[in-house]
Parts: sequence; C-alpha cells; structure tokens
Amino acid sequence: MSDTEQRRVDAIVVGGGIAGLTAATVLAEHGYAVTMIDEYCGGGRLLTMGVVKAYPALEPSIDGPDLAARCLDAALDAGVEAFPARVVGLEFDGMWLARTTDGTLRAPAVVLATGRTMDVATVPGAAEFVGRGLSHCASCDGPLFAGQSVAVVGTSWWLATEVGELAAMTDRVNVLLPAQGPPGPQGAWAQVAGLANVHVVTGARLVGVEGGSQGIATVVVERDGESEHVAARGLFLCDDVMPSVPEGLPADLLDETGAIQTVDGAATAMAGLFAAGDVRAGSVPYLVSAAADGVRAALAASAFLAASAAASTNG
Ligand SMILES: Cc1cc2nc3c(=O)[nH]c(=O)nc-3n(C[C@H](O)[C@H](O)[C@H](O)COP(=O)(O)OP(=O)(O)OC[C@H]3O[C@@H](n4cnc5c(N)ncnc54)[C@H](O)[C@@H]3O)c2cc1C
Repeated sequence: MSDTEQRRVDAIVVGGGIAGLTAATVLAEHGYAVTMIDEYCGGGRLLTMGVVKAYPALEPSIDGPDLAARCLDAALDAGVEAFPARVVGLEFDGMWLARTTDGTLRAPAVVLATGRTMDVATVPGAAEFVGRGLSHCASCDGPLFAGQSVAVVGTSWWLATEVGELAAMTDRVNVLLPAQGPPGPQGAWAQVAGLANVHVVTGARLVGVEGGSQGIATVVVERDGESEHVAARGLFLCDDVMPSVPEGLPADLLDETGAIQTVDGAATAMAGLFAAGDVRAGSVPYLVSAAADGVRAALAASAFLAASAAASTNG
C-alpha cells in the first residue's frame, strides 16, 4: 500500500498481543471493519512464554505460543484483518491516521494495545551481546545454555516463572536482584529460590557485561559499593518496564512512566482513542486482565463508532 492511498477502516487496533487480539475480535463481532497492526504478525508476550500461569480456564496447561495461535485464529475467524507492520506514528486530523512501515491507514477509532518492552540500552554493555548470550525469553533460549551458568536480572512480576524454567534447563541460575526480593507471587518465588541450582544475590545492581567473540563470559554487579564478577554464559533480562507507545501522542496522555492514561479504564482524553493491556496506566500484568481490557476498549470503541454514525445521520 502506498502512503498516498491511506486505506480507511472502522477501527485500527495497534498491537496483536492478547489485549489487541481480544479487542479486534470483539470489534469485528460487533460488525466493524477492523485492522489489527502488529510488527510481528501478532502473539506479543505470549510468544515468549512457556506454560501459561494464572489463567484458570486453561488448566491443566497450555503454552504461550499455543494460546497466541488460538487468539489469532479467533480474530481471523471473526473477520479481523491482520496487517504485519510497525506503527511509526499516530496523527489526528478529524480522523486517526496510523503511519506504518507499510503505508498509512485511517480510522475514526484506534485501540492502542502495544504492551511494554525492555530497553536493552539501559543495561551497560549488554547491547553488543544481542543474539550472542543476551535473551529475554527463558523458554526460547534456555535450552541453548544446558549444562552452563546463566544470570537473570530484572524486576518483572513474572521473574519467578522465568527463573524456574531456567533452573530446569541449565546448570546454575544466578538471580541478581536490586532489592531484597522480586515482586509477584511470593509462593512461586519461595519455591524457585529454594532450588539447589538457584543462587540469589540481593542488593545487586548490574553495571556491566563482559565477554568476547564467544559471547558472554561474566556479568558485573555492584553490591555494597564493591564490584562482583558473576560467571554466566547467558544473561536473561526479565524486566518489562517501558510502555511501547507510538510517536505522535500528546505528552499529557501519558503518565510519569510513559503509560497511556484513560478516564474510565478504556477511553483516553482524545475522541476515538482507546488503550488496553500492559500499555494502559494502572493495568496489572496478567493475561486475563489484558484480555478483559481488550473487551472493555472494544466496547467503548464500538459505542463511540455507533454514536458518531448516529450523529452524522442526524446532522
Ligand atoms: C516473562 C513473562 C512471563 C509472563 N507469564 C505470565 C503468565 O504465566 N500468566 C499471566 O497471566 N501473565 C503472564 N505475563 C504477563 C502477560 O504476558 C502480559 O500482561 C500480557 O501478555 C500483556 O498483553 P498485551 O496484549 O497488553 O501486550 P503484549 O503481549 O506485549 O503485546 C503488545 C504487542 O504490540 C506490538 N507492538 C508494540 N508496539 C508496536 C508498534 N508501534 N506497531 C505495531 N505493533 C506494536 C508488540 O510487538 C506486541 O506484539 C508474563 C509476562 C512476562 C514478561
């Protein structure tokens, strides 16, 4: 699609994680023409997850990628168009314009469900080891370190899950925590922290990553004013802190962390713009919650589209 074509749909959903896929599905079920734009064709965080936890309806178990495939199938079956591209800018000229790496789409309503991400640049020395020992997915890359030592850093709610997966696949897991303990379910944490091959270092700040052509050899932490070198062939970053927000949104839509603020859990202060999932200020990092957010944003967008149509008919 060329940039001058600017194809129009009823609603654009940016982000194809569980929040975006759910929002797109519900909007399509309400009869709207919906395009879901995702830079990786959809799936989001689910693609880097092992066994899904805390999603009771799916017991006994399902892996993240399998749940992603089910959600994507449901969206396509409902009539959602999946558009693989990155949204590089959002503008409003009476209608929303989503500028993507593959042209521009227009719609009166947009749901932003772009999740959160880790900024590798915030970890000193880490960027040069991308693809050579640095990872953010235990279930994908853990097997590469069988019989070796790895380190895990971060403050993710789901840190215990990642550490548990790595402990089952590697020789030794060094967990480097800035505080005394991680957030998240403490029962799960107590279990993994007690494993024989899990070594927890608290009060540790990662200050460097060292290695060579063979990849990572050690990570350097600062603790009580002293530097410590921890041997590790793999470094797993488990920190989803930065909301992923496309360029172009007014700064006052965002809170101090960069997350999108809503007035009622779905609608932003701008007409036709909605937010769902991890990118929404005040969200909680659970799949069921992100899916519920998707439903709420879709219903709010649907009501907005219906009201706009009624206003233009009457006007
Ligand atoms: C390690 C880990 C394990 C977890 N395990 C569990 C668990 O077991 N159970 C549970 O309930 N929760 C778990 N969670 C939390 C859960 O994964 C998230 O809360 C949920 O997936 C958030 O969904 P989302 O749709 O908001 O965002 P995401 O899944 O992050 O999706 C956002 C999507 O938007 C896309 N995107 C971003 N910017 C753009 C752009 N500009 N243009 C186009 N596309 C864009 C991204 O590529 C991505 O596909 C875990 C989280 C982590 C980090």
